[in-house]
Amino acid sequence: MSENNRREVMKTGAAAALGALAGCALPGGANSEMKTLFPLTHATIPVVGSNAQFPVRRIYCIGRNYAAHAREMGSDPTREPPFFFQKPTDAIQFVAPDSITDHPYPTLTKNYHYEVELVAALHTGGRSIPISKALDCVYGYALGLDMTRRDLQRGMGDQKKPWEIGKSFDRSAPIGPLHPTSQIGHIKDGAIWLKVNGTIKQTANLNQMIWNVAEQISQLSEAFELMPGDIIYSGTPENVGPVVKGDVIECHIDKLPNLSVKIV
Ligand code: MN
Repeated sequence: MSENNRREVMKTGAAAALGALAGCALPGGANSEMKTLFPLTHATIPVVGSNAQFPVRRIYCIGRNYAAHAREMGSDPTREPPFFFQKPTDAIQFVAPDSITDHPYPTLTKNYHYEVELVAALHTGGRSIPISKALDCVYGYALGLDMTRRDLQRGMGDQKKPWEIGKSFDRSAPIGPLHPTSQIGHIKDGAIWLKVNGTIKQTANLNQMIWNVAEQISQLSEAFELMPGDIIYSGTPENVGPVVKGDVIECHIDKLPNLSVKIV
């Protein structure tokens, strides 16, 4: 495309966008009624004990939020401020508590890791939220897995490239039903563990987080305007490790039902 043609296309696109904003007729005979070309499914999480679905706007994840896990990943937990990454919302894979859900082994990896995490789901948001008000944003909690293509994550990190391909892929965010704070209160401590084929791999207490959920919300809100529908994976304890096809992962957080997935 020549430079002139490219400019012309850009001008036309801008005019169409302005037309859409103003609700006016577009060149070419289109009328003012705008139509979406095709439907998109929106990721939702069922709310336990009701027919409500929680719509997911963004998935934030905190990195290295338990000291022993930070050490096993090669960093010094005493000096590192919190850092966050995102997964796409369609990475959500709902896992019902009463059965074993198949979870596909993803492409490209030879070192596929589990990370069991508490997930906080927000029904309000804002900017610069003080820690003292942060938990007011939390609608409820769920048990989640931050599944990770560890070899790709490490490989990209070694090259100082974004490690998105290791973290933000299809179905990398299995999650159980949401439990509203109106029913279970806030989850600030209690056991979190993960078994593979019946053997304990990860076990810790939620009160061992370096940055608790309120602090995570407050910190995130300095970088992003938080909105209803945002969910936050709050980090995993130490002893992350690999699974292969056929393995069954069972995970637990006190106050929430256990979840099980089979790697297929
Ligand atoms: Mn994680």
